[in-house]
Amino acid sequence: MSSEESDREASSDRGSASFPRFSPKGRRPALRMRIFPDSVLRRVCDPVDDFSSALDDLFVEMTFMMNAHEGIGLAAPQVGVEQRLFVAKISGAVISIANPVIRSHAGWDVLSEGCLSLPGQQFDIVRNTVIEVDGFDARGRRCTHKVEGFWARVMQHEIDHLNGVLICDVAENKGRP
Ligand SMILES: [Zn+2]
Repeated sequence: MSSEESDREASSDRGSASFPRFSPKGRRPALRMRIFPDSVLRRVCDPVDDFSSALDDLFVEMTFMMNAHEGIGLAAPQVGVEQRLFVAKISGAVISIANPVIRSHAGWDVLSEGCLSLPGQQFDIVRNTVIEVDGFDARGRRCTHKVEGFWARVMQHEIDHLNGVLICDVAENKGRP
């Protein structure tokens, strides 16, 4: 998810945008940002089943890419990886989660969202205002995040990516000028 109107406080690390290149481990190619209509953005991603250090490396590299692009959320298919994981950052706090599942949800509101894979576009999106998300951290430990407001919105946006769903699909203002 991109940050048009929010996350002002987290701007201190912007500008340090040089991408670190990790020494190759395994066969994973270098990540690059995927832009609509790249077909990888439409895939239903596979569950993460490898909780080795390679997963932690992937989270770290995705976090650098998210920061470099001034985003507040980045899902694996957006960098060409068809696995169920994402990173998100709001006001300096980072969440990295694999195999996220929304366990409960409540409330709703509408807000304009952007997406790093749809540069320059904004869509009004209905989201739940409170959600509880189960998943796993980089070491494979179970975790639960109960989040509300903007955190809830970002996490729903990123989980949509893992199912091949983009904001242009679910927008309230879809098709309007
Ligand atoms: Zn997005």
